[in-house]
Amino acid sequence: MLSGRMMDRPLLVIDILRHAAEAFPASRIASRTVEGPIHRYTYADAFRRTAKLAHALGQLGIGDGDRVATIAWNTYRHFELYYGVSGIGAVCHTINPRLFADQLDYIVNHADDRAIFVDLNLVPLVEQLADRCAGVRHVVIMTDREHMPRTSLEQAICYEEILEDMPETFDWPCLDENTAAAMCYTSGTTGNPKGSLYSHRSTVLHALGVLAPGIFPLNREAVVMPVVPMFHVQAWGQPYAAPICGASLVLPGARLDGESLHQLMESEGVTLALGVPTIWLGLLAWLRQSGKGLSTVARLLTGGAAAPLSMFRAWEEEYGVEVLQGWGMTETSPVCACGAYGSALDVAEGDERYVCKLRQQRLFGVELRLVDDDGQPVPADGIAQGELQCRGPWVIDSYYNDDAATSAAFTDDGWFRTGDVATLAAESMLQITDRTKDMIKSGGEWISSIDLENEVMSHPAVAEAAAIAMPHPRWQERPMLIVVLNPDQTAGSDDIRRHLEGRIAKWWMPDDIVFVDDLPHTATGKVSKLQLRERFRDHVLPTA
Ligand code: AMP
Repeated sequence: MLSGRMMDRPLLVIDILRHAAEAFPASRIASRTVEGPIHRYTYADAFRRTAKLAHALGQLGIGDGDRVATIAWNTYRHFELYYGVSGIGAVCHTINPRLFADQLDYIVNHADDRAIFVDLNLVPLVEQLADRCAGVRHVVIMTDREHMPRTSLEQAICYEEILEDMPETFDWPCLDENTAAAMCYTSGTTGNPKGSLYSHRSTVLHALGVLAPGIFPLNREAVVMPVVPMFHVQAWGQPYAAPICGASLVLPGARLDGESLHQLMESEGVTLALGVPTIWLGLLAWLRQSGKGLSTVARLLTGGAAAPLSMFRAWEEEYGVEVLQGWGMTETSPVCACGAYGSALDVAEGDERYVCKLRQQRLFGVELRLVDDDGQPVPADGIAQGELQCRGPWVIDSYYNDDAATSAAFTDDGWFRTGDVATLAAESMLQITDRTKDMIKSGGEWISSIDLENEVMSHPAVAEAAAIAMPHPRWQERPMLIVVLNPDQTAGSDDIRRHLEGRIAKWWMPDDIVFVDDLPHTATGKVSKLQLRERFRDHVLPTA
């Protein structure tokens, strides 16, 4: 082999913030603090405070490879932890505060976290956890002295106090780029949560990957608001991607309701915001109700769950906001396909334009393939569905210390089995049609719950809907729809059926439609089909 004659300089997370501080010293980070007021500073300020944090971590005895948990909302202190912890060679382990207590215990103990950094309003969670997590030596409450709460936590210390007298520069170590930088557990709908351990290299490459032109519209003029939590797959890479290109960041803290988001978007001039469909449906409902509009937001990015076509249409036609879609998983850092819709969109008209947006283009760096139940390749013809598998430099190669989960998730030839069902079309266009566990198999034929929900959601009275499989003596399974109506609106099963006629194949028509006040959501804001199936376990279809 003839080796290239290029410098072998590592790709390191801290160099992203160093670059932002030097190249874009005036780009801002604005956060709604948990204490209340909006905090604003620049990347240059953030880099200085991250140096102070690095010194403080050293004084707490945290070093190489130690796992440091964060249980926190999107704020500037959490941002500093992303860089400070990884920068010294420790691992920033973000934890979802909405998980059940036993899942939290499991995660903290399985990761063997040395310290927990926790936001003020989440301290009670850690108080309950502390006794059961013997390895945790420090609990740092992310606030200043003035706001320190009374707590039963003996080891509790104050974030601002530990930073106070520290120097504003730090001699950041030149780590191997394959050193672990961050960690996130999947919410785990079945079995124990599973840990993804990201490296510096994978994190930097992922950030560069999403910055490719035509993916996220990011640049120095952009003002980006990740509503997707920093505890959920690193807020889809935004805290790393935005500083690389000098985009300003707006971090919404703990308040994610429509009114709070709208207020922050307007006051900070947000141009792009990212979140799960539930967030964008909630904001849409609030805008309609309040009669307010958005003056600077040009685009929303939706991901993490299937978004209904009606949502793309409503945002664009009522508020002039383009909705982009991304697909990814905790295991894939997460973004693998996003926001570029290929030549079909150039010629599409009317509703066809929104149909195009249900597909997303694969990113450079990631490979995708579809296989059938026997592991045989499924053609990428835009029609045939198969289980989606992927590989690439920001896809995990194993779960953290979990051999059983690892062996179930990888194929013999080294591809990651996503558990999603999808089609692939020309120009590397991916469309997710279901989770393997959520597909409805009627008389041996698959019905896509996502497609069905999508059509129901275009009914003006429907706020949210989920389709689940119910047992049927003749067809094995038949679809049942569970519907939440918009407040002050009415619709019956017959209205919904009439609406679906002609939009779906006849045999997809749900055998039952039930109306409920709300749907259960998972810790990451997705409809929990697991809980729905549980809730309707004893329900009998009228056709059964
Ligand atoms: P998580 O690891 O919690 O981020 O969840 C990943 C899962 O979310 C994927 O395996 C998909 O089932 C789902 N998901 C993510 N993005 C999309 C999308 N654009 N459309 C449909 N489902 C999605």
